[in-house]
Amino acid sequence: MIVVMKIGTPEAEISRLAEELQTWGLSPEKIVGKHKTVIGLVGDTVDLDPLQLQEMSDWIEQVLRVEKPFKRVSREYRHGEASTVIVSTPNGPVAFGEHSPIAIVAGPCSVENETMIVETARRVKAAGAQFLRGGAYKPRTSPYAFQGHGESALGLLAAARDASGLGIITEVMDTADLDKVAEIADVVQVGARNMQNFSLLKKVGAQDKPVLLKRGMSATIEEWLMAAEYILAAGNPNVILCERGIRTFDRQYARNTLDLSVIPVLRSLTHLPIMIDPSHGTGRAEYVPSMAMAAIAAGTDSLMIEVHPNPAKALSDGPQSLTPDRFDRLVQELSVIGKAVDRWPLSLAALA
Ligand code: PEP
Ligand code: MN
Repeated sequence: MIVVMKIGTPEAEISRLAEELQTWGLSPEKIVGKHKTVIGLVGDTVDLDPLQLQEMSDWIEQVLRVEKPFKRVSREYRHGEASTVIVSTPNGPVAFGEHSPIAIVAGPCSVENETMIVETARRVKAAGAQFLRGGAYKPRTSPYAFQGHGESALGLLAAARDASGLGIITEVMDTADLDKVAEIADVVQVGARNMQNFSLLKKVGAQDKPVLLKRGMSATIEEWLMAAEYILAAGNPNVILCERGIRTFDRQYARNTLDLSVIPVLRSLTHLPIMIDPSHGTGRAEYVPSMAMAAIAAGTDSLMIEVHPNPAKALSDGPQSLTPDRFDRLVQELSVIGKAVDRWPLSLAALA
């Protein structure tokens, strides 16, 4: 349920109301929007009568029920306003959200060695990316495939961060590694295979770093938003949703089906920022540029693109990785669409 306050409601009145609602066993959450302040109520609200709530203060404009199963992530919960996730990076803060320029995340699938990660960081930074991605812990289908270098790769990401000033996005697979990962990462990634690992979701929700939540390969939009709800319910409001392709019947020509229709769907259902990953979405480097352009045209807030200095030799996901030169050209191509939708130049941190 949400309680929409009238414009100009005194702070003291909002606090008084929140305290009274707490005595009813509810957890009021104050949400300050651009235009209005809203009090979000999560808890057992089925028996509450909106009219009775309305009578608690003359400053209440409206009391509305959030009918969806996801509450905190729903667009209604912020009275229709988009949220902005601000991530600090050495080069300065980068904003993810509907009212911000496009944010670009690029880098290899896995962190392989210091030279390649530092070189890739420098190249993607020069091309315009604000974040370096790269896995230290890799979720691989085969137990015999390269599993990532683990903790030592976190140190290499830190070196690449120092060398480039880029923010770092890297995956956490196991709750036991979260503290180590969060120490290095500016954004902690929960991968597609862990989207419904509820213990992990609760843990990333109980720490401060923003979370990138990838869509499970067979997850419905509702399941995905309910997974995000776990993170917000645990106390972390900074979640970015990343579409990375869903499993479909035709795997001959593309690894997955990149579901670009989620962009307008998510926009209507949730206030959270959106990222599109055309690399895992298609599995083929030659299809990445057109899907990246389409994603910007369709309104994505950010992109994640795999880039490797020598894709033919990559230890994972080489076929879908762009070379640094191709990535550089792609960013220039993207600028045309980005300008057309008024979300370019990239954030200032990219130019630092
Ligand atoms: C990745 O980003 O390298 C990755 C493993 O992604 P996903 O979880 O989407 O498969
Ligand atoms: Mn990958």
